[in-house]
Amino acid sequence: MDFNSLTIKELHAGLVTKKFSALELCQFYLQRIQANDKKIGAFLQVGGDSALKQAGAIDNLIARKENLGALAGIPVAIKDNMMVKGLNCTCGSKILENYVAPFDATCIKKLKEQGAVILGKTNLDEFAMGSSTERSAFRATKNPVDTTRVPGGSSGGSTAAVASNECAFALGSDTGGSIRQPASFCGVVGLKPTYGTVSRYGLVAFASSLDQIGPLTKKVEDAEIVFEAIAGKDAKDSTSVDKQVTHRSVESLKGLKIGIPKEYFAEGIERGTREAVETIIKKIEREGAEIVEISLPHTKYALPCYYIVATSEASANLARFDGIRYGLSTRGKGIKDLLNIYLKSRGQGFGPEVKRRIMLGTFVLSSGYYDAYYTRAQKVRTMIKQDFTNAFSIVDFILTPVSPFTAFKFGEKIEDPLKMYLSDIYTISVNLAGLPAISLPCGQSEGLPVGLQIIAKPFDEAGIFSLGKFIENLVKP
Ligand code: GLN
Repeated sequence: MDFNSLTIKELHAGLVTKKFSALELCQFYLQRIQANDKKIGAFLQVGGDSALKQAGAIDNLIARKENLGALAGIPVAIKDNMMVKGLNCTCGSKILENYVAPFDATCIKKLKEQGAVILGKTNLDEFAMGSSTERSAFRATKNPVDTTRVPGGSSGGSTAAVASNECAFALGSDTGGSIRQPASFCGVVGLKPTYGTVSRYGLVAFASSLDQIGPLTKKVEDAEIVFEAIAGKDAKDSTSVDKQVTHRSVESLKGLKIGIPKEYFAEGIERGTREAVETIIKKIEREGAEIVEISLPHTKYALPCYYIVATSEASANLARFDGIRYGLSTRGKGIKDLLNIYLKSRGQGFGPEVKRRIMLGTFVLSSGYYDAYYTRAQKVRTMIKQDFTNAFSIVDFILTPVSPFTAFKFGEKIEDPLKMYLSDIYTISVNLAGLPAISLPCGQSEGLPVGLQIIAKPFDEAGIFSLGKFIENLVKP
């Protein structure tokens, strides 16, 4: 049976009516991984035995006619910076190469409670720092649409797994675009929830004030189901909040006001990307939505602001990898004094991009520079947030491209960090402002997928899903 075209709801229906078993579904994906993943390189670890065991347990529940969660028996892939008890958690880094997670992240606990079947852990740029997954210490993941190109990043493994039918859905993390940008490169759906809606407990921290976990799926409806399963306040993450998940359906776009920020269609955007996004915006207008040009005037400061805030937090968060507490250690290898254990373990364990971020962050936080960089960046962050608050006093949603360009070739941007950082020019402001946003396939440019970004008011995920589903139907040829 071909499960690839089925949504999570359809898979669920098939399981409870015994059209197929959870075991069959799990075996289907494990075989697919075995046959296909040599080519794609999405997975760092496949937990075949434990996945089959989980699937068997679900089949027992079905046989006993017990009530099943929406995700029961549905196979999922997890980005390798989230803790899944008993599986590795490498963060794509040599420093955690042999680290085994001693507990489940809260989102994993929730998935397991729902009965989701965890297939394994997926590749990422080291510690989620990057936009192409070329920064993994272990392997490059290929874009399933065109294997000579990157899948985007940093959640490139999870995204490629979804796009190449190696799982029914996946989880990624998004600090500056790491769910949405790869989703747009591979032609799938990726949601970054409002900051605080999904617990970060058990997600290895990159930049704690920006990080959010979210789903990568084939359909908006699937993203909604997964989001509902993983959202909610958690005593283990004091920044998490409780928000009632609401549902809304959009029958027509009449009366809806949609903002198009002029700064996002300025220089730097590739023509094909721009045309694909403009075409869908025209269709949306024809459906009755009012399209309004808006301005987010501080957009040009978002990138520098992000690279100060994110690197500052990263330099503090990554201090814990010292060769003593976790992972790789040079202890006992002829190095006796503590300082040298720290220096050598970190020197050997971290890759070049991670070192660059730690150095940048340490510099901007150092005394004498702190106010000029860090304090200033925090003020700019407030202004970027205010831009969105102002815009949302006029419009219901904001539509933008996800990335200024489509998936690029391997090696094309790796030598020039600034070029790489530009990948996220349209996504980072959303993280700085803590807003929810989705990336949704909206067309193609020279055969490569283009993503449309819907940005909403804080906690309006329901709005995103309803509009997203409507747009998804418009995109269909
Ligand atoms: N590409 C951005 C960076 O390198 C964002 C990464 C992310 O969202 N984790 O920092």
